[in-house]
Amino acid sequence: MEKRIAIAIDGPAAAGKSTVAKRVAQVLNFTYVDTGAMYRAFTYAVIQKGLDPKDEEQAVSLIPGLSIDLAENGHVYLNSQDVTDVIRTPLVSGNVSYIAAMKPVRLALVEMQRAIAEKKSVVMDGRDIGTYVLPNAEVKIFQIASVETRAIRRYEENLEKGLKTTLKEVEEDLRKRDYIDSHREFSPLKPAPDSVLLDTSYMSVLEVVEAILKIIKEKTGIEILCH
Ligand code: C5P
Repeated sequence: MEKRIAIAIDGPAAAGKSTVAKRVAQVLNFTYVDTGAMYRAFTYAVIQKGLDPKDEEQAVSLIPGLSIDLAENGHVYLNSQDVTDVIRTPLVSGNVSYIAAMKPVRLALVEMQRAIAEKKSVVMDGRDIGTYVLPNAEVKIFQIASVETRAIRRYEENLEKGLKTTLKEVEEDLRKRDYIDSHREFSPLKPAPDSVLLDTSYMSVLEVVEAILKIIKEKTGIEILCH
């Protein structure tokens, strides 16, 4: 069987990881795994049931029987319900970091993430992919950008999607999530010691994709033909 390869892309909220990871996966013909979407789907499940997203006991009660599917076409399913759009709303964004700080939730989702990477070559993005989920990933990128740049990028994305948020609200959400994500006890957001740090504040998407493909080529020897 052909060797499976894992590319881990971690970093703070709205650093452009998913846009870039999707493109890199397309070029390499790997599977893109958006682990943030899994934490968002779980958060939506908690909210939908009327449970308190800050209450670990209530949230954890949903783990048995939980099914989250990331379809090839980018859609996200929670127990067969298409939750692709609703998981991007401010209500979910504002609560996801509380849910993601709960160890039993993380263990359940990490198991799903590792199971995908066991079967296929992946480009997986998140917060703890290089440090915890796939510590043996062949390539680890830690993608950063200034909080102001990230807020503007996310604000413009929201406008395109018709989501009504102000730039100030977006920036506050990013700062809050980054703080909780990097200060939680279990598996916090931090660069893996063997990751390559990429500051994308002044880079276009195309430049970031090119830079990552170059790193992948250097580290794995994969021939990247055309993109
Ligand atoms: O990547 P995205 O911003 O959609 O992730 C939403 C949230 O999910 C993050 O703010 C973080 O709380 C959580 N997350 C995580 N670990 C991951 C991916 C996401 O804790 N691997």
